Amino acid sequence: MAPPIDPTLLAALDEALSADRLERDVPLAPMTTFRIGGPADLLYRARTPDELAVAVGTARELGIPHHLIGVGANILVADAGVRGLVIRNEVAGVEWLDDRTVRVGAGVEVFPDLIVETVDRGRGGLHHFVGIPSTVGGALWQNLHFLSPDRSRTCFIEEVTLGAEILAQEGDRRRVGVEYFAFGYDDSILHHRDDVVLTADFRLDPAPVEELRAVMRENLRWRDDRHPDLWLYPSAGSIFQKIEGVGAGRLIDECGLKGHVHGRAGIFHRHANIVVNLGGASAAEVRHLIDLARETVLRETGYDLRTEIGFLGDFDAPPTG
Ligand SMILES: Cc1cc2nc3c(=O)[nH]c(=O)nc-3n(C[C@H](O)[C@H](O)[C@H](O)COP(=O)(O)OP(=O)(O)OC[C@H]3O[C@@H](n4cnc5c(N)ncnc54)[C@H](O)[C@@H]3O)c2cc1C
Repeated sequence: MAPPIDPTLLAALDEALSADRLERDVPLAPMTTFRIGGPADLLYRARTPDELAVAVGTARELGIPHHLIGVGANILVADAGVRGLVIRNEVAGVEWLDDRTVRVGAGVEVFPDLIVETVDRGRGGLHHFVGIPSTVGGALWQNLHFLSPDRSRTCFIEEVTLGAEILAQEGDRRRVGVEYFAFGYDDSILHHRDDVVLTADFRLDPAPVEELRAVMRENLRWRDDRHPDLWLYPSAGSIFQKIEGVGAGRLIDECGLKGHVHGRAGIFHRHANIVVNLGGASAAEVRHLIDLARETVLRETGYDLRTEIGFLGDFDAPPTG
């Protein structure tokens, strides 16, 4: 288990971030879509690009362990919580640079906020991602994606991204173009470098509002048929990446694990690549199902599944509280 933060470093962090804004011992479960996980030693909510840059920069300078989260839609937090500083990216702001280009704070939620704003103006491109929980920063980290309206291809957020302002791992703030992100499937430069997105620019196509809304309605219906309702079954979406074009859910299903329950967590009965919190599940129970699915699929099919979600905190430490 990581040692507590040195009081001198803590005082320096308090001073840099304004003492009253640094929260202690904050439960992280409500900040994740799984609704699972212990507390953060320290939590800071960054609301502007400057605040986010200062928080990350100061933690780096002081050598304080830190983790950036958005709406926690792609992470599992350990029952023991997270030592050090968790920075919640709540950077707000939506500014139209011209009638097709919008500059957005990295903490703005793609759905509903940004999609509602852009669709109301008759601008399309982000509407494909209706119903997916994500901040703008998380969406660029992930290269957010969903099927095209005719289901023949996948639409990626990369396609409407112009560029961003980042805090680079070297410490400087810079503007980068879309090519900087080296987007792939479930992948971008943000998986490989310690850069932080502060704002992002999207270029959107004019389209009739009713057409955009029709696609959104159809996508929501499609998701509703296959995916668990987050309010009934909290989850983090797909657990494993697609592997050589083969869906992880199909492999897990073929191994007979669809609907398998462990404690208060379960492999969703309609989509085997999703683990759901059946009510009061622990991170250890979810982790058990993930390990079980991976080991069973490897043994029975030879495919070695890789997780898409991130794990935050120490999964070997005893739970707090
Ligand atoms: C019900 C459900 C359905 C989903 N469906 C889909 C889907 O159809 N398609 C799809 O692509 N994904 C899907 N997902 C996955 C999830 O929505 C995405 O991974 C999303 O982009 C995560 O965003 P977040 O803000 O929650 O990031 P978090 O989960 O909080 O963090 C994820 C990672 O992003 C990093 N990050 C966050 N902000 C920044 C920033 N400003 N700069 C750099 N790094 C940052 C974090 O450090 C972390 O490593 C689904 C998830 C759920 C729960």
